[in-house]
Amino acid sequence: MNIQGFTKTTLLDYPGKVAAVIFLGGCNFRCPFCHNSSLVLPPKQKPSDSLEDILLFLKKRRKILDGVCISGGEPTLDPDLPSLCEQLKSLGYLVKLDTNGTNPGLLRELAGEHLIDYVAMDIKSCPMHYPKLAGISKPDMDSIQQSVQWLLANVLPYEFRTTVVRELHAEEDFIEISRWLAGASQYYLQAYRDSPQVMRRGYTACTKEEMEHYLELVRSFIPTAQLRGID
Ligand code: SF4
Repeated sequence: MNIQGFTKTTLLDYPGKVAAVIFLGGCNFRCPFCHNSSLVLPPKQKPSDSLEDILLFLKKRRKILDGVCISGGEPTLDPDLPSLCEQLKSLGYLVKLDTNGTNPGLLRELAGEHLIDYVAMDIKSCPMHYPKLAGISKPDMDSIQQSVQWLLANVLPYEFRTTVVRELHAEEDFIEISRWLAGASQYYLQAYRDSPQVMRRGYTACTKEEMEHYLELVRSFIPTAQLRGID
């Protein structure tokens, strides 16, 4: 299991829950605005937390933590993901999975076996602009579309989310995205945040007014859409 990081407690990553976060390394995208580039590119050093240490910690924290988020990177690339989910469920935790949606078969399988309780799926942009935003020439849009349709069927609680980057998004993208995700129960527009960890430097965040304008566009098709991370 390619564990590359562990956050012991967060109130921000699992809506309404106190959670820990396990970060798995490796990703099939190269989003230029990715702020977890150290998890996407081959690691320079061995991570300090072993699965055994993490499970021991989680066993002791069962009365304090509600759930565990599995993030990345793209966690569905790790062949040991089902076994990790099983171990977390056997400790009694709710499990949230962060994904770019490229493995709908595994999402269905994990949900069918009650190994995940919540899915957060990244929506990089409208389908036409995925190559630019995902940083690869041919993202698997069929799989992404399957994941979107599956989540829209409300099999389990979920959210879609888009990190909004001023240089990479425009009005038309949000009109297209909101048509694509029409009827979604949760959709968040998240503000881009610059950091030294970003895959490619030089991008900026939109202003609060620009984010509110995009939200207004999106709400025509997704009335429950919200902003996240806006000061
Ligand atoms: S933003 Fe997510 S999907 Fe994109 S490269 Fe980073 S970890 Fe992978």
